[in-house]
Amino acid sequence: MSTPYNVQQAAVIGAGTMGRGIVISLARAGLVVLWLDNDPSATEAGLAMIAQTWAQQVAKGRIDQAEADACLARVRQVTGYDDLAEADLVIEAVYENLALKQEIFRTLDSTLKADAILASNTSALDIGAIAAVTRRPEQVLGLHFFSPAHVMKLLEVVRGERTSPAVLDAAQAMGQRMGKEVVVAGNCPGFIGNRMLASYVAEARKLLLEGATPRQVDEALQAFGMAMGPFRMYDVVGIDLEWRARQLAGKDMDAPLLQVDNALCALGRFGQKSGQGYYCYAPGSREAVHDPEVDALVLKVAQDLGVHRRAIDDEEIRERCLLALVNEGAKILEASVASCSADIDRVYLHGYGFPHEVGGPMRWADQQGLSLLLARLERLQGLFGEHWRPAGLLMRLVAGGKQLADVREGRA
Ligand code: NAD
Repeated sequence: MSTPYNVQQAAVIGAGTMGRGIVISLARAGLVVLWLDNDPSATEAGLAMIAQTWAQQVAKGRIDQAEADACLARVRQVTGYDDLAEADLVIEAVYENLALKQEIFRTLDSTLKADAILASNTSALDIGAIAAVTRRPEQVLGLHFFSPAHVMKLLEVVRGERTSPAVLDAAQAMGQRMGKEVVVAGNCPGFIGNRMLASYVAEARKLLLEGATPRQVDEALQAFGMAMGPFRMYDVVGIDLEWRARQLAGKDMDAPLLQVDNALCALGRFGQKSGQGYYCYAPGSREAVHDPEVDALVLKVAQDLGVHRRAIDDEEIRERCLLALVNEGAKILEASVASCSADIDRVYLHGYGFPHEVGGPMRWADQQGLSLLLARLERLQGLFGEHWRPAGLLMRLVAGGKQLADVREGRA
């Protein structure tokens, strides 16, 4: 991979959860990192946190003191955009709000040197809409780190419609230098990982209302090999993040599938961080303990919505959640949001706890046999409706006797 961009000095805007992990990853890769937050106390708290992280690494014998000191010395707190004028790469990690990010990109565009690369760590916003406010859209892209960013291996490099190939190469090289598993994704809501997750979680939420409990859904998927079922995962991430975003945007608050989440958040049950979410947690413990009150809450929400509940077995849970994941993955492949099925598998293995021995959701689908899988999707379509319509790509692959692994850039 060759690129005219030589990234030596990086900058991070935002010293919250993500900014901190990104700063650690960059400094550990040997880059000088300039760090800016509009709240200086956030950067100070961030510096204390990263110093502590490196002290723990020294205590565990993973790095020596000299290395920890060198990493810390590479991180420099700054107070204004003028201090960033010489940065080669800026990664923005402020609140998830388009207008705010656009304002920051406008300022960056007018202060930074002409060949600087501008990246956003947005989880869901349109990279094109962020790039459009700058005079250098070909130098703008998404760098979607996962939380905690210094621990999680996955990095989705999000290609905006106008991002140049050289900038994509530079970002990939940067990701590899940080020791990340780098996957290039197209610019669409949720990119690769979260777009597939949305289909999978929607099915898990439907199963709750139709008759399952959070524990049953989680255990059925964990028995398949997932590191964590979807409701345990929401407890770790924080159920309130999406709830707050819904409130802010004034959107989707009455969506039936989100009523259990809304009810939990209304009770202050945000997940692990508040000691209660879909499960209970003893003080200081991360062990998810079953809570019958949540089962009762699920039952009440289903009743209020007039959903008829029935017994649901573990096989149905796995069938619906995994096939939803695969069908969305096939649509992503068809639309060239991912360039090959192995990239989708890497996203799920390194970012979402998919079992390594299975090799990833798309590999699993190929192993099932695509004609059988297509028949299963058609059966679900007959039972539950149009959202189960199989991806056109699957039909074409079956007709041509090919596999998902044969697809490159949307074609087999
Ligand atoms: P956070 O709330 O922990 O931190 C945001 C930081 O941005 C705060 O320190 C705040 O002071 C700072 N900030 C706000 N406005 C600013 C401005 N105008 N200039 C400079 N700094 C400003 O948020 P987070 O969880 O770190 O998320 C940051 C971004 O990363 C969001 O776009 C989010 O969607 C994305 N993301 C989050 C996660 C996650 O799990 N938390 C995962 C992937 C991506």
